[in-house]
Amino acid sequence: MRSQDCDILIQGGGPVGLACAAWLLQKFPEAKLTLVDRNSINDADLATADSRGIALSHGSKLLLDTIKAWPTDCADIHRVHVSQAGRFGRALMTREELNQAALGHIIRYRDIHIAIRQALREIQAKSPHFIWRHTSDNHEQMNAKCIVHAEGGLFKTQDWVESGRDYGQSALVGLVEVENALPHQAWERFTAEGPLAVLPSHYGTNILNLVWCGSPESSQQRLQLNEIDFLKSLQNEFGSRIGRFLKIQDRRVFELGLNYRKHITKDNEVWIGNAAQTLHPVAGQGLNLGLRDAFLLAEKLASLFSGSTEEQTPAQIQNALESYAHSRKADRTTTIGLTDLMARVFTSNLAPIVVARGLALSALQWLPPVKTSLARQMMFGRR
Ligand SMILES: Cc1cc2nc3c(=O)[nH]c(=O)nc-3n(C[C@H](O)[C@H](O)[C@H](O)COP(=O)(O)OP(=O)(O)OC[C@H]3O[C@@H](n4cnc5c(N)ncnc54)[C@H](O)[C@@H]3O)c2cc1C
Repeated sequence: MRSQDCDILIQGGGPVGLACAAWLLQKFPEAKLTLVDRNSINDADLATADSRGIALSHGSKLLLDTIKAWPTDCADIHRVHVSQAGRFGRALMTREELNQAALGHIIRYRDIHIAIRQALREIQAKSPHFIWRHTSDNHEQMNAKCIVHAEGGLFKTQDWVESGRDYGQSALVGLVEVENALPHQAWERFTAEGPLAVLPSHYGTNILNLVWCGSPESSQQRLQLNEIDFLKSLQNEFGSRIGRFLKIQDRRVFELGLNYRKHITKDNEVWIGNAAQTLHPVAGQGLNLGLRDAFLLAEKLASLFSGSTEEQTPAQIQNALESYAHSRKADRTTTIGLTDLMARVFTSNLAPIVVARGLALSALQWLPPVKTSLARQMMFGRR
């Protein structure tokens, strides 16, 4: 075998690719695995990278705990309050109703990324055939029996477009300081232009993560507004439930949409995480779904490559990947479908939809089994 050859090649060292490598090596330390990462191998460029708050479910926490990759800087959510600006309908979900320690956790993207990198470094010490290299180190064409695509990417920045939807929306994210927040409470408010989420942060009760969805034009305008005007406009949309909005920092805008592959395998290649599906963040599901992809693929590949000392044939590899794709079908379909539905329903201003939305929120409040099963899907995916 040449130094450029390996059994499994993972392309893309975002949270999903890194986690897949870590779970695979944890189950099968002898794996001949190469991870090609565009980020520098030390964490230098990540320390100042993307600091948007990401909601991770309790299911994702349980998965990341298995590789000791849970970041220390994290804020737990105990209650989620959902409402519509200026319309009827609201729902409150609490951890007590679901009998869970937390409904979810908010962590900065870069902290998740760095925590998984650190976990992978620990595992790397016991993995003799694992190579972790930067994209610029790839001078020769690499041969791999199986290629895992984890190149991720954001909506409209990817070099592939398959099925999906452009919602004509962007999200303005930032860190906002308020006067009077409730500890561990998240707020999701549906405005005329789209969802506005205010989520806890590990910086303290009154410093919150803001995800404010709107048309691309409004989001760009909000990005340019001076601080006073920005806070005034935010206060108008959100109302006074958590007192005055006092400060905003780290404003950034992301374009939002749905882009997903109908087929996530082809011959010896497989796509996971955002490389397989890129979702609207309305339900906070993209990374959660990607981590479940990574975990189940790692299980499948570990059992295939550790199972026999004989060379795996292309047909065996293809079968294993197809079986993986089959096992992901229900979870992918449900999560993509629910997120798409929420993104469309909660951004429409058509009168019947606004009324239906109010009824749906009221139903959530008054029909606990519906609420519980929706929350469980969001927390653990479809199993
Ligand atoms: C505003 C916003 C809010 C969000 N909120 C949530 C949330 O609350 N909860 C949630 O679960 N999800 C959320 N998401 C989605 C989440 O960010 C993504 O699902 C997640 O980052 C996907 O991880 P990934 O590793 O697949 O891809 P990425 O995070 O995009 O990482 C891919 C990595 O691969 C590298 N790469 C790319 N091409 C190559 C190549 N050719 N070779 C080597 N490396 C390469 C990139 O540099 C990058 O580091 C949100 C997204 C947005 C935009």
